[in-house]
Amino acid sequence: MPNPFRRHSHSRSAKRRSANRLKLPGLAKCSNCQSVILSHRVCPDCGYYDGRPVVVIKTKGKEK
Ligand SMILES: [Zn+2]
Repeated sequence: MPNPFRRHSHSRSAKRRSANRLKLPGLAKCSNCQSVILSHRVCPDCGYYDGRPVVVIKTKGKEK
């Protein structure tokens, strides 16, 4: 197995790892209820997608 010929500096490792952070998901606002949602997903609050109701949201009995 080949081994590294020279050690990397801490700076070099840090530069490489600077690209390793998690990216934020694509956030958008619902066109119906204005809440922050993931883009290209049905709104979890009102069930709208592309300006029309797609899914009927069931409330879990806590709200009257
Ligand atoms: Zn919505």
